[in-house]
Amino acid sequence: RSRLYALEPIGIGTPFVESLSGYIARLADAHAVSVGDLVGRELSPLASKPLISFGPSMRRNRANSHRFHARAHAINGFGESSKRWIEALETATLQKKLRFLTLSLFEGVFSRQGASRHTRAWCPKCYDEWRTRGAIIYEPLLWSIDLVVLCTRHLVSLARECPHCHRPSKPLAVYSRPGHCSHCQHWLGDSPAPSPEGGPDVARGLDAALYRAEAIGELLAIVPRLEGCSLHSVFTANLRACVDVVTSGNVDAFARRCEVARCRLLSHLTGSSVPMIDIMLRICHRLDIPITVFLENDPRRAEPYWRQARKAVQHDRNIPARRSAEQVRLVLSTAAQEEPVPSLSEIARRLGYKGSERLYQVDPDLCKQIAAKYRQSCRSHLWKKP
Ligand SMILES: [Zn+2]
Ligand SMILES: [Zn+2]
Repeated sequence: RSRLYALEPIGIGTPFVESLSGYIARLADAHAVSVGDLVGRELSPLASKPLISFGPSMRRNRANSHRFHARAHAINGFGESSKRWIEALETATLQKKLRFLTLSLFEGVFSRQGASRHTRAWCPKCYDEWRTRGAIIYEPLLWSIDLVVLCTRHLVSLARECPHCHRPSKPLAVYSRPGHCSHCQHWLGDSPAPSPEGGPDVARGLDAALYRAEAIGELLAIVPRLEGCSLHSVFTANLRACVDVVTSGNVDAFARRCEVARCRLLSHLTGSSVPMIDIMLRICHRLDIPITVFLENDPRRAEPYWRQARKAVQHDRNIPARRSAEQVRLVLSTAAQEEPVPSLSEIARRLGYKGSERLYQVDPDLCKQIAAKYRQSCRSHLWKKP
């Protein structure tokens, strides 16, 4: 028997996998104790080194103070700190896959910059939907990543401030509870989420944000499959193969095409420095290659992508003829009736566009409907209570 409830982690192998800090909050909730008590009394004694350090007021007055510094952002990220938490939690719950609730596998592959965010972020609509449907309320790892600013399911900005007490909070705090503010304990599901709408600039920003969030989701989904190989060598070899095919090994041309600094690209190719996730996503976006292709040791899958990117670079496609808004709207509304509904990028491709900016420009509401319908048709992220 495990010392604490053997709570199953949520969504391993999907873009919506739970975060380790969220798992701790859910575990505390299941035991009806505060995170502070769970960590201080149950988990810390199991760790090889202290998990938390107590703040000055705690040292002065242990009896009624609860302040701790959990270096909370590091829990979901890379490095020693996350390892200690995983170790202690696995000992206490006898769960064996908690490392997949962190980014620890990407240590030495991507730089820490842009990885873990220092404050908590959430999608109020996801919380509300889970509560309404009686699903488990939890914190996806995706929300804890700095580059992700948008919910890929609801296309709304992630919230970072409690609508009741107007304070931001740490990813893990003494009184963290899934779906609730760790300061005032109010439900966070009803925060008014500013919906990103507006002109073409906003649409372009939305498109880029959506691309990033979805690509990072794909990364999180393949994590369990990547274990056991030297990810850093696989990645470097793939990047080299990509440059070799796409621009025949011409680093200058490749850097120009992807809008990355040449010296930086060179250092990634030799493996002397690791790229920021953001830079890698830019390369993937510019060449239309899924980021997962760079991490999998599967040349047969990768080759066609390299060759396709080479073709695109060689015959840079002509700018498609400008269609009237009415024509685009007609294509959109016809596509919305299709079963199953196509993705926005598929519709854009049919029209000869590279991205879906123009579609959002013409009819943002219809685009959102199509995107929501598409996501519902192919992905479920609801984990039912047993
Ligand atoms: Zn959402
Ligand atoms: Zn609050």
